[in-house]
Amino acid sequence: MFSRILIANRGEIALRIIRAARELGAETVCVYSEADRDGPWLEQADHRVCIGPGPAPESYLRIDRIISAAETTHADAIHPGYGFLAENAQFAEVCRDCQIAFIGPSPEAMSLLGDKVSCRDMARQSGTPIFPGSPGEIEEEEEALAVAEKIGYPVIVKAAAGGGGRGMRIAHDETELVAALSSASQEAVAAFGNGAVYIEKFLERARHVEVQCLGDQHGNAIHLYNRDCTSQRRHQKLIEEGPAPGVPEALRDEVCESAARLIRAAKYCGAATCEFLMDGSGDFYMLEVNTRIQVEHPVTEMITGVDLVKEMIRCAAGEPLSLSQSDISVTGHSIECRVNAEDPDNDFRPQPGVVDTFQAPGGFGVRVDSHVRAGYRVPPNYDSMIAKLIVHGRDRTEAIARMKSAIDEFRIGPIKTTLPLHRRLLETPQFVDVDFDIHYVERLLEAEQAAAAK
Ligand code: ADP
Repeated sequence: MFSRILIANRGEIALRIIRAARELGAETVCVYSEADRDGPWLEQADHRVCIGPGPAPESYLRIDRIISAAETTHADAIHPGYGFLAENAQFAEVCRDCQIAFIGPSPEAMSLLGDKVSCRDMARQSGTPIFPGSPGEIEEEEEALAVAEKIGYPVIVKAAAGGGGRGMRIAHDETELVAALSSASQEAVAAFGNGAVYIEKFLERARHVEVQCLGDQHGNAIHLYNRDCTSQRRHQKLIEEGPAPGVPEALRDEVCESAARLIRAAKYCGAATCEFLMDGSGDFYMLEVNTRIQVEHPVTEMITGVDLVKEMIRCAAGEPLSLSQSDISVTGHSIECRVNAEDPDNDFRPQPGVVDTFQAPGGFGVRVDSHVRAGYRVPPNYDSMIAKLIVHGRDRTEAIARMKSAIDEFRIGPIKTTLPLHRRLLETPQFVDVDFDIHYVERLLEAEQAAAAK
């Protein structure tokens, strides 16, 4: 096991990693920016190193500073958390070159799955369902037109190197497709330095269902069933739950097993998530693979009892997975709400500033992952998420009731948060009846606004 783990992240995920490291008997080093000087999680770390000013490009994204912090504190491993450098293959490579273990996949596995064209290719070989589309990168306009003709419009042009929704264009006909090819490619060159694009079928109405996987350095890979993250706004997830409701067990197992095969084929070490869209007839299509721990990982921990962060640390230390596929089963139902410091009644305006009141709910089946306490100042520099509220219940009905009660108990002020929105969403027929798609929240918000304007 590692003796000292550097955490190249902040906030709730830094605290989550500290907890796991402690249980494994490893010390922790937190790097932090000047904006996070008073971060409550820093008190929980064994060592702290300031790596620069508030803006992330000058601190949390500075590979050189993070590596020198690891070297001066004699850390033997780095956990990247999510966001920042978590999916940066160059960072993983620099760690390896400096003989510091990267708690995640090898740079090769990360690049293979991070490039959407090579990932699609591997998925095809592993029997993981993908969207119909071009066999690989589009070289010629004629090829794109022929593929679109065959799969039918609408289609989506996507950048091989894409991420964060950039380099994507939807086309409903030939004229739009020709324009989309060049604009997506140009945007991809500007954003990623790689203009390669491909096309696939565009699904108008779909649910987001993803599969949690774990792999080790000994060729083992397992899945830990699925989560539904259909409640989103502008592609940002708001509510996640598991297991994904309304997916027949046989189909669920088939898709989950195919995801584990893909992870195994990529010789993947650590936690990975295969994201899928699911259409109205229950067909699955892979969107992408996230090569890191995800925000919503607690949902899976609650229903499987597996500590995902500890597993990923152990695997990076060369240990085999402590569980085999037959050890994994699902108990009950879990829901997570992302509590963001944003005003949902004011176009989700960010709410930085001092949190005077922070009284988290508790009780049976309630978990709060948060770095916040009363008196904490939310800096304006980073992601607005200040807490994750997670519940576990015997079934979905109990989990929904428990979540509503926990939201009612949660007191945060004076800043506004997304809690009231979550409370409303949990009562919509769309959510309750699992009769939703990834745009239902946006449609609801528009309808609410229109009603308020009258
Ligand atoms: P990124 O890596 O940039 O986030 P993704 O491939 O994950 O890109 O896609 C981002 C979002 O775009 C998805 O969550 C989904 O809402 C939408 N999307 C992507 N591909 C398709 C598709 N083929 N059909 C419908 N929606 C899609």
